Amino acid sequence: MLCAICNISSGNCSEDCSFCTQSAYNDSKIETFRKKPLEQILKEARMAKKNKALGFCLVTSGKGMNDRKLDFVCEATKMIKKELDLMVIACNGIANFEQLKELKKIGVDSYNHNIETSREFYNKICSTHDWDERFETCQMAKEAGLMLCCGGIFGLGESKEDRKEYIKALQDLQPFSSPINFFLPHEALKIPAYDMSENEAVNIIKNVKSALPNTKVMIAAGREQVFAKNPKAMFEAGVDAIVTGNYLTAKGDEPCKDLRLLDSLNLQVQSECHG
Ligand code: SF4
Repeated sequence: MLCAICNISSGNCSEDCSFCTQSAYNDSKIETFRKKPLEQILKEARMAKKNKALGFCLVTSGKGMNDRKLDFVCEATKMIKKELDLMVIACNGIANFEQLKELKKIGVDSYNHNIETSREFYNKICSTHDWDERFETCQMAKEAGLMLCCGGIFGLGESKEDRKEYIKALQDLQPFSSPINFFLPHEALKIPAYDMSENEAVNIIKNVKSALPNTKVMIAAGREQVFAKNPKAMFEAGVDAIVTGNYLTAKGDEPCKDLRLLDSLNLQVQSECHG
């Protein structure tokens, strides 16, 4: 399964997540904007469809949902659904039940909210909100009838125990899909680069997949670096889905490169969602 990400509101985030270039605490000099024009969003959605993406994720920066963002995401969703047969995933941070119900009502298929890491380690990488709020949003997304996409990021300095606790929390949530990101170092971020070997990454994927056999394990940021020499290894380890194209603030591989790779591995691209 292929999913594309669309950054519909970027940067200037009030939260201090130390791994994130969109935080205003980290002077990362990324491009910032409040609202991507709707025509541009539709153009990117058409491109994603052309590149065989099944999911299209509308991502806003910031701690969570508010009325302005809700209206914007609903407007973008209606526009996309009117023209394209794409699964729309909303990714708008901490949200309440009413907001999530509204997304469902308007036609959003899935909500992406990552718990990122273990509950304990999260306090060490973010002080402006807590992990529990994230976890509760994930629970409520399911209660609101949305499919849940929930994953995290590895290589932030977390321990083996943190990784185990993180996977246990995912087991409680039983998400439809679960993205695995590997930390991408950036000069503006204090977190040092972590030397994630292919072998370690393979073990992470295997552990997540064996704990969540019914979840689509998705590989996202960092895969191009960690699996540069042997991309086949991520699929052999249990990856079911990939994020194709660019990430929020970092460049990814060209989608046509992914399609060529999948073709060379005799892997079929999923054309329908069975959530
Ligand atoms: S809340 Fe989201 S956008 Fe804001 S700094 Fe944290 S991860 Fe980045």
